[in-house]
Parts: sequence; structure tokens; C-alpha cells
Amino acid sequence: MATEQRHVTNSELHTDLRTAVRELCSRYPDSYWRELDAREAYPEEFVKALTEAGYLAALIPEEFGGSGLGIAEASIILEEVNRSGGNSAACHAQLYIMGTLVRHGSEAQRQHYLPKIASGELRLQAFAVTEPTTGTDTTQMKTMAVRQGDHYVVNGQKVWISRVEHSDLMLLVARTTPLKEVTKKTEGLSVFLVDLRTAIGHGMTVRPIRAMINHASTEVFFDNLEVPVENRVGEEGKGFRYLLDGLNAERILIAAECVGDGRWFIERACRYSRDRVVFGRPIGQNQGIQFPIARAHVNVEAADLMRIHAAELFDAGQACGAEANMAKLLAADASWEAANVTMQTYGGYAFAQDYDIERKFRETRLYQTAPISTNLILSYIGQHVLDMPRSF
Ligand SMILES: Cc1cc2nc3c(=O)[nH]c(=O)nc-3n(C[C@H](O)[C@H](O)[C@H](O)COP(=O)(O)OP(=O)(O)OC[C@H]3O[C@@H](n4cnc5c(N)ncnc54)[C@H](O)[C@@H]3O)c2cc1C
Repeated sequence: MATEQRHVTNSELHTDLRTAVRELCSRYPDSYWRELDAREAYPEEFVKALTEAGYLAALIPEEFGGSGLGIAEASIILEEVNRSGGNSAACHAQLYIMGTLVRHGSEAQRQHYLPKIASGELRLQAFAVTEPTTGTDTTQMKTMAVRQGDHYVVNGQKVWISRVEHSDLMLLVARTTPLKEVTKKTEGLSVFLVDLRTAIGHGMTVRPIRAMINHASTEVFFDNLEVPVENRVGEEGKGFRYLLDGLNAERILIAAECVGDGRWFIERACRYSRDRVVFGRPIGQNQGIQFPIARAHVNVEAADLMRIHAAELFDAGQACGAEANMAKLLAADASWEAANVTMQTYGGYAFAQDYDIERKFRETRLYQTAPISTNLILSYIGQHVLDMPRSF
């Protein structure tokens, strides 16, 4: 990605960026993703191409070899991947967890890791937060990192940790002070950069989870894993704040993926409704088919406006918690509506793997649940935006 693009107007950059990402994605057609889905295999080649083109380094500052672009541009990259029929989930984490290292990493960590991540020499694709017994209630996590001299000893378990097997580094959130010893439950969590190349087999075990979608998710077990103190990101005990810092970026990027999915579904539904002739006319001529597609389109476009608004606020350094959360909720709902409408439009063929509708339907369903579930977004809006009583 050429850095001189930063000097053109935003709209020119966005058009150029979209065109370039679309061109790259066109080399990975439906059949590529379908075949990987069938084999539950990771899109190595696609992620390599995206990395080599510089797209996964979009948010790394230029001084460290990245493009120094904003969240708006990063979101366009992921939107276009999903809009092409692909699945950004194979590589989106690098974009949304990068901020933790950029903002809170020491100068030594940034100098050491960022240029290598930007060049693709190191992959930072895994982010370990969720635990089997505590789920969404993050502050209750049980994985402990206990300091012993120049290293921490980590014990515990994580679940649903994606891309661990396709990553060199993993951001790990663990308790460094037991819950009963902190005054606020958000205190006492810390963030670590785990070097997977040395950790796996030496205190860390990874077990793949077979799932409804091809997502390379795993269970991870820590049994006296040693992590050097210099791999702690930021201050000890402040990890929850660093987590929160990254959430708006994550919400906006995921919203963009949903918009991409939504547009992909609408395009397919419209095309099929024009071509499929039953009772002597295209099914799209029936308003029972046409109106749900039109409504889904309206909702995707409306969600996109909120996503753009949130991204603009984010890039201007303004508060955007409400907008980022609303964008994620609206976009996830819109893509899911578009998915359902497209399933209905395709009739029985929606179920045939060769049409890719069922694959994308499964993939876009995830966004109702992960990385953050719809209920949790609504509780954020209820409590933090509308000042209603806290429910948990
Ligand atoms: C394919 C996949 C990939 C993932 N990748 C990662 C990853 O890379 N790293 C990582 O850390 N995690 C990952 N996750 C985990 C994901 O973030 C969690 O599944 C998600 O946050 C929900 O947690 P849970 O599954 O434990 O659900 P629970 O916390 O058990 O919640 C179950 C349901 O109850 C609802 N609920 C819970 N409490 C409340 C409440 N107080 N009010 C209203 N509703 C409530 C939730 O919204 C949810 O719908 C992934 C999950 C999946 C499925």
C-alpha cells in the first residue's frame, strides 16, 4: 500500500483502497473459500497476499514500517474482504489488537515487534481473553500470571482462542492480582505478549475446536508457562483499561465486516431474484421476494452510516463508544437480516454448498455472539449512553 495515498483526500483514498483490495480479493473466488471451508483449513495464501500488500499493517505507524492509516481505512479493507465473499475473520485480529501494542507497548517492544509485524515476518493474530467458566464476565477470569523474578508463571485455561496455530505472537490477558485482593474487579489484570513459537509445548497446549464455521478456534491450556517480564505490555494490573481502549476499534472493524457481508448477500439475492424464473416470471418480480431484499438493503446502508460516523470520530480522536457500539449492533443485525433474506430468496439452492449462501450465512451469524454479543452491546447502551441502572 503506497504511503503517498495518505496525501490525497479521504474519498480518493477510499476509492483507491477499495479498488486495490477488491482486485486482490478477486484472485480468491468463492471456490477458494468453499474448498477451505470443506477442509476446515486456514486461508494461508490469502492472508499472505494481504500481508505482502501491506493491508494488515494499515494501523502500524509509518515509523515502524506500517502505513499509518486510520480506522476508517482499516475498516474498508475488512469490509471489502467480506464483500468479496471471503472471511476477514482469518486475519482481522491483527488489525484490532495492534492498538494495544502501539499505544501501551514500551519503546523497546514497539521497536522490536512492530517492524516485523508490518513486514509479515511475525504474525500477531491471536488474542486470548475468553475462559470456559467465566465467559463474558471478563473480570472473573481465573488464568493467573504470578511474577517470579524476571518472568511470570502462567496457569489456567482459555477457550475459543482463534488463529493460535496461525500466529507467532498472542496477546494474553491474565490476572496478576487475585480478585479477592483488589478493591475494584477491573484491577489486577495484565496483558502479555506470548511468543507462541517457544510457548507451545513448553507450558502451553493448544487443542482445536471443531465449530459451525471455519474459524481456526482453539482451547488453550497453560501449565506453568514462563513469560519474561519484558513481554508484559504496559503496567501490571492495568490490563482491563488497555482492553477497553481497544474495544471501539474492534467494534468499528467488525461493523465494517458485517456491512461487507450484508452487501455481498444483497448483491447475490438481487442477482438470483432477477435470474430465477418460476411461474413464468423472475421471482424478484414478486413483492414477497423483492421487499424483504429492499428492506435488508436499507438496513445495511443505514448501519454503514453509523459505522462511517464512528470511524470518523475515532480517527479524529473523539469519544466514540456509543457510536462504535451502535455501529456494531446495527451492522450485525443488518448482515444477519440480509443473510436470512438471501437464504429465503435462493429457496432450496441456499442449502447447496456450491452456492456459498449457507457458508456466508453461518459465518455472519457469528457477529451476533462474538467478539461481543448483542446483549452486551445493549447493556452498554442502556447503562453508559442512556444512564439506566447497571445490570451486572
Ligand atoms: C468462533 C468464535 C471465535 C472466537 N474467538 C475468540 C478469540 O479469538 N479470543 C477470545 O478471547 N474469545 C473468542 N471468542 C469468544 C467470544 O468472545 C465469546 O464466545 C463471547 O464473548 C461470549 O462469551 P461466552 O461464549 O462465554 O458466552 P456467555 O458469557 O456464557 O453468554 C451466553 C449468552 O448469555 C448472554 N449473557 C450473559 N450475561 C448476560 C447478561 N448479564 N445480560 C444479558 N445477556 C447475558 C450473552 O450475551 C450470550 O448470548 C470466540 C467465540 C467464537 C464462537
